[in-house]
Amino acid sequence: MTTETFEFQVEARQLLQLMIHSVYSNKDVFLRELVSNASDALDKLRLEKLRDDSLDADVSDLHIEIDVDKEARTLTVRDNGIGMSYDEVGRLIGTIANSGTATFLKELREAQDPAGAEGLIGQFGVGFYSGFMVADEVTLVTRRAGEGQGTRWTSSGESTYTLEKVDDAPQGTSVTLHLKPADPENQLHDYTSPWTIKQIVKRYSDFITWPIRMVPEAADGEDAPEPETLNSMKALWARSRDEVSDDEYHELYKHISHDWREPLETIRLQAEGTFEYQALLFVPSHAPHDLFTRDFKRGVQLYVKRVFIMDDCEALLPPYLRFVKGVVDAQDLSLNVSREILQQDRHIRMMQRRLTKKVLSTIKEIKTKDADRYATFWREFGTALKEGLVTDSENRDAILAVASFATTHAEDEPTTLAQYVERMKDGQDDIYYITGESRQSIENSPHMEAFRDKGIEVLLLTDAVDEVWVDAVGEYEGKKLRSVAKGEIDLDGEKDEKAEGEREKQAEDYAGLLGWMREQLDEDIKEVRLSARLTVSPACVVSDAHDLTPALENMYRAMGQ
Ligand code: ADP
Ligand code: MG
Repeated sequence: MTTETFEFQVEARQLLQLMIHSVYSNKDVFLRELVSNASDALDKLRLEKLRDDSLDADVSDLHIEIDVDKEARTLTVRDNGIGMSYDEVGRLIGTIANSGTATFLKELREAQDPAGAEGLIGQFGVGFYSGFMVADEVTLVTRRAGEGQGTRWTSSGESTYTLEKVDDAPQGTSVTLHLKPADPENQLHDYTSPWTIKQIVKRYSDFITWPIRMVPEAADGEDAPEPETLNSMKALWARSRDEVSDDEYHELYKHISHDWREPLETIRLQAEGTFEYQALLFVPSHAPHDLFTRDFKRGVQLYVKRVFIMDDCEALLPPYLRFVKGVVDAQDLSLNVSREILQQDRHIRMMQRRLTKKVLSTIKEIKTKDADRYATFWREFGTALKEGLVTDSENRDAILAVASFATTHAEDEPTTLAQYVERMKDGQDDIYYITGESRQSIENSPHMEAFRDKGIEVLLLTDAVDEVWVDAVGEYEGKKLRSVAKGEIDLDGEKDEKAEGEREKQAEDYAGLLGWMREQLDEDIKEVRLSARLTVSPACVVSDAHDLTPALENMYRAMGQ
């Protein structure tokens, strides 16, 4: 068979270099990544066989196997799952499809210090490549279920890898690491020791639902012993709260989210009754880079009676909670359930409502108990959550209760609407806000002059979605939400008749000038009027109370509407 040599993509090469010279202190996690991939491959095969019974694949004993060879200094992780075709190996292993990786490498170059690099490694799923933290050569042999021919991939992590077709590959994938020379100082991380492997599997992969087996070393002169299963395979969501440690929850989070960092919060829900289900949800500690792109994979994993059914199940949570990760395990769904059926299912809709409320009430709890954690949450996910103010009127109040906004009241302490209302001045009827691209640009806007002069607080809203939710929500506790840049604003109230009279007189005095300006600007404006809102600037442009703001006009135009 011919062996072909290929160059790694530039990004892949950079990532590999990073792994080879890794400063990442916890190298044990490479095993978690390989086991995680093997587990995914078994899930995929089980499902594919379920959907297509004619698939020529053996699903009678799906499992993961780990072998160590002290003499050869190799460690092999093998699965009999879905496998990969020749093309898939090149596509999935030889390149970095994940667009976030480019961002990652750029940030890494900017971070410069090694500690920063360590933090960044954890942000992007660098799964398979993490093997190069401990190995100087990696060989992957795979055969896709249902196909006759297999593929061998090898690389030492330098600039190239080789691909070769092989005839005798078993179904599934085996990844063999040729380990770097042993570190005599560090026996704990001797990956040729079955004891070490056992500890790592227990620590990181205990909950994996497929058996992870290892054949213990044979004593001299005896037959090879029976393989031992290293993990308990217990679904964490089905165990009671006090049986499971936070670490165990966090490892499950890392497995399903492909994030290397700890989650911000773990949420459990057990629903009994006619439609029974268990949910184990996680709020990540960082927003993924692609949260606001169209192809962001939203949703949590769906299991039916402990069997993995699908990733990214959109029906379980509304779009504005798409950053939530986790598992929902339902007792009474068919294993063949499809996305289309889920969208229409009454029980699933009820489940979504319940999960949504649970997530929102958990955020409220964080807000009450832990200001720092709440600040992190809102910084990372506030923008997404605000979409819910527009799309989910049922939970609007619950979202408003945990929403906070930049304000002229304090430089770096956001305010809730409730706090704003408490501070409102006597005679102030409305909640004022201004929208724009950045805090700085709107704080210095001419629209703000009169408010600053009179010491009236204004919310400073800088997300595109802000333009939309303020209209959708309209008012809070009977107080109208009003833009300082729209319509006529009378900050002095009705009482000031003298000022009113004066303004009328001024209007007469300036009638000529205003008329002339109107003629000159006819194409671009509706009217010219005298204003009480400016104190320093000579003029400003104002929209009608019901007009779209310029930013929103741009947003809708970009959306083709
Ligand atoms: P991720 O798991 O986050 O997608 P990885 O780098 O761990 O990223 O793996 C890249 C891809 O390679 C996987 O998405 C999968 O398609 C494929 N792959 C890796 N390991 C296996 C395996 N054991 N069996 C089948 N496919 C695999
Ligand atoms: Mg992976």
